[in-house]
Amino acid sequence: MKEIEGDPAYPIFSFACRWSQDDESKDHNKNWSKGLPEGRIWNSTGNSKIFKTYPTEKELEEILELVDDQIKNNPKYKNIDDYTSSIKFKHFETWHLNWFCHETFRDGFISQAEGFEIVYKNILQSFERYVNRNEILMEQSIMEDPNGFGTITLMGAEDRWRWRGENDGDPPPCRCNGCTSSSMIRINH
Ligand SMILES: [Zn+2]
Repeated sequence: MKEIEGDPAYPIFSFACRWSQDDESKDHNKNWSKGLPEGRIWNSTGNSKIFKTYPTEKELEEILELVDDQIKNNPKYKNIDDYTSSIKFKHFETWHLNWFCHETFRDGFISQAEGFEIVYKNILQSFERYVNRNEILMEQSIMEDPNGFGTITLMGAEDRWRWRGENDGDPPPCRCNGCTSSSMIRINH
């Protein structure tokens, strides 16, 4: 098991998808229609995923196929064409940024001998190390590119008051039924 500062670290992959589609808004940036006939625009999406163990090429292909199908079958996107997508290794990290939350695998923390409150404390200490480490990298990337947005984002996790459980004011990590019955631990923002 790979570790960073004593915490279990997992492979994180990012994927990117791009395609052209019918333009229904008629009100967009010129770059969005570059090289396309009238009435068409480019669209794209990207995301990332944390894996418990390093995925095989076949697993990656299967995940990308699922993502491709979701996009191609989404009625929001009309007449998709020029479709391309890719998935690539990003880095090993202890926590993964998801939609308004950070997540990691519960297995890294559960110990039979420890009560839940001790486990929760270990989880928060691990997250604190992750945030501190990435805060420094985030500041460096902003200094190197003052006009850019930086390459690292913590989505507000650098503010400790944004660490919460299921609802505002609940202590982190999230103790909702979905989280406690899944293999993931989440800290919501
Ligand atoms: Zn939850």
